Amino acid sequence: MPPRIFLKPGKDKPLHAHHPWIFSGAIARVDNATDGDTVDICDASGRFLARGYYNARSQIAARVWTFDDVPIDRAFFRARLERAITARNALIDRATTNAYRLVNAESDGLAGVIVDRYADFVVVQFLTLGAEKRKAEIVELLAELLAPRGIYERSDVDVREKEGLAPSVGVLHGAEPPDRIEIRENNLRFWVDVKRGHKTGFYLDQRENRARVAEFLRAAVGGQSSAVLNVFSYTGGFAVSVCAANPNARVINLDTSREALNLARENMRLNDCDARGEFIEGDAFQVLRRYRDQGKVFDAIILDPPKFVFTQAQMQSGLRGYKDINLLAFKLLKPGGILVTFSCSGQVSAALFQQVVFQAATDAQRDAHILAKLSQAPDHPILLAFPESEYLKGLVCRTC
Ligand code: SAH
Repeated sequence: MPPRIFLKPGKDKPLHAHHPWIFSGAIARVDNATDGDTVDICDASGRFLARGYYNARSQIAARVWTFDDVPIDRAFFRARLERAITARNALIDRATTNAYRLVNAESDGLAGVIVDRYADFVVVQFLTLGAEKRKAEIVELLAELLAPRGIYERSDVDVREKEGLAPSVGVLHGAEPPDRIEIRENNLRFWVDVKRGHKTGFYLDQRENRARVAEFLRAAVGGQSSAVLNVFSYTGGFAVSVCAANPNARVINLDTSREALNLARENMRLNDCDARGEFIEGDAFQVLRRYRDQGKVFDAIILDPPKFVFTQAQMQSGLRGYKDINLLAFKLLKPGGILVTFSCSGQVSAALFQQVVFQAATDAQRDAHILAKLSQAPDHPILLAFPESEYLKGLVCRTC
């Protein structure tokens, strides 16, 4: 008998709807399974529901590989990887963009596995014990299917701790990536540090938003010179996109990370717009307060903060963070100015985020229109059966 887990009566419902997570509280009995094992997931009467992997250490005690009764072998992983890669080939204009997400974990039927492409290199993350156990197989298949110069691992993420795993970083196949890889996004050029940068090196999920925001700001400020404040700039993704679309835009980049700002400067230089950039190292909350006290104003402000809410317990303080930063931004905008504001906290719904932005506007005594609602790029797909895969939301607002 293969290792099996049996759910409590009634707890099979989400699986019938193809939700890929089984919380520890839903499990009645574990039969012969140790952590990391491939297991059959069965309902209370013993009927097969799905095949996945088990880890008693995690609150998400099992994750589904498949809802079909098929072996989890090389052919399975090959088919899943091929499906994900084919989907990206249809989504991404590879003539203008060569950095994008190839595999987005659960959304691509590969729970715990992230695969990003950066030009000739591939960067991977294995987030769970069950995924870690399949690392060698998956890396071999990626080498075969993509023939990259190298595959680099960036499994230095906090979630691994919950799985009982240490961080793991380094070359898994082929050549080590250089300290900076040059990538192309929407026909713009960027340096990416895949070995030390955030996530796998670049916020690929904002690719489409960078292009759309650049268009909104161009339309909004027309031919006039415009002052843009790019808060939480990281390596200048929005700054380069905005400057490239609008020859009159000047952008102040603000971030706590000196390395990120250095790369932002290099990225603006790479696209011939460094003369229109400023780079301020500091805490966004403090700097925006100082600007407010100095009476500074901007034509547009972009807020793309890190995740403020990781757990339900952080909800109140996280929402306060969003409210405060948006309130300060509204106060710093000229009438008719544009606020582009994001939240990447999955726990904060789009509706709740909009409410917080509304409260911020009210407190700043500003009225505003929503010009657009933004989400994550489609190479980070939201799986309908798995609403948890939706995390990034943004609003483009114009004060009136
Ligand atoms: N907009 C960026 C991604 C932003 S990621 C892009 O398109 O690439 C969030 C950034 O916020 C990180 O670079 C991080 O260093 C920075 N950050 C985190 N806390 C901060 C704070 N309190 N003040 C300013 N920057 C902060």
